[in-house]
Amino acid sequence: MRITDSKLLAAITALGVEHKPALALAPLTSLGIGGTSDVLLIRKHEALPALIRLLRESKTPYRFLGGGSNVLLPDSELPWVVLQLARQDPEVRFEGNSVYVDCAAELGRTVTLCAKHDLGGMEGLIGVPGSIGGALRMNAGAYGTQIGTFVREVTVFRAATGRIEILRGAEINFEYRHTSFAPDDIMLAVRLELPSKPYSEILQGIRICNEKRRASQPLNQKSAGCIFKNPPGGSAGRMIDELGLKGHHVGDARVSDRHANFFINAGHASAADMLKLIDDVRSRVRERYGVELEEEVIVWK
Ligand SMILES: Cc1cc2nc3c(=O)[nH]c(=O)nc-3n(C[C@H](O)[C@H](O)[C@H](O)COP(=O)(O)OP(=O)(O)OC[C@H]3O[C@@H](n4cnc5c(N)ncnc54)[C@H](O)[C@@H]3O)c2cc1C
Repeated sequence: MRITDSKLLAAITALGVEHKPALALAPLTSLGIGGTSDVLLIRKHEALPALIRLLRESKTPYRFLGGGSNVLLPDSELPWVVLQLARQDPEVRFEGNSVYVDCAAELGRTVTLCAKHDLGGMEGLIGVPGSIGGALRMNAGAYGTQIGTFVREVTVFRAATGRIEILRGAEINFEYRHTSFAPDDIMLAVRLELPSKPYSEILQGIRICNEKRRASQPLNQKSAGCIFKNPPGGSAGRMIDELGLKGHHVGDARVSDRHANFFINAGHASAADMLKLIDDVRSRVRERYGVELEEEVIVWK
């Protein structure tokens, strides 16, 4: 979507929000799929209430993009403008066992910085790409660790009230790849509380998780991680593998040979190809196992 009203554009930029017209979005996603849209880069959190007011008053629909590692965007011009948070300086601040992290910060870099301050617990999350905001939204987790466990406070812009508020960790439900944030909440910053641990011990845990990931995932190919959530008590990857679907493809959208729940863009896959592959695999799993797989990747539609 393009913002063409010059008065609206002037009001947006007066808030210190950067307007990037008709940006190609595929390079902003780990799948490398997506059309174009205007992107609004929010440099100061305080600008959000006024920005959202302007977008609402002008009936300009918007969506929020973090690090782009868990989304499937449509192919052509998007019917929304895209909001993103600019990285802040400093991104991470330490106070005893509390770590204050900006939501634009990268999750992996945050885990490493915490390790250097002898704060552990998040080793399992080291290889999860994307931002802290995306990790909070998805309750990112791996190898028995999920970010929600460490969350004590979240600073969030609530579209429902039009205000920036602070939620206590206990007020938020963190479940398997699901959280109780409202769909139009925008997370801005978080306070995590992490256990003290010697750096060398954390580093050892990080190495083990990195090795496990390298051994099982197609890390040098374009993907969004697991495409489906695991059904209760089951494994989506195992079911897809048992159906012999590794390598199965629609155009350049392909089930990874390495991990059957990773669908990769092996060249110039379109969103339409990926959606067709997702539907095809889902219906085969339904027919064989009677299980309805739910997407883990967020499909913008
Ligand atoms: C190779 C690979 C491996 C992966 N492995 C794992 C894994 O082990 N475990 C795991 O959980 N995930 C994994 N993922 C998926 C992905 O990395 C996580 O879901 C990640 O937390 C998404 O963060 P992001 O910033 O990229 O979010 P995006 O993809 O940009 O967004 C995802 C959703 O979160 C919303 N969102 C993002 N930021 C904010 C914010 N600040 N406020 C409000 N909403 C926001 C977006 O609107 C969107 O709906 C993997 C992905 C890849 C490519």
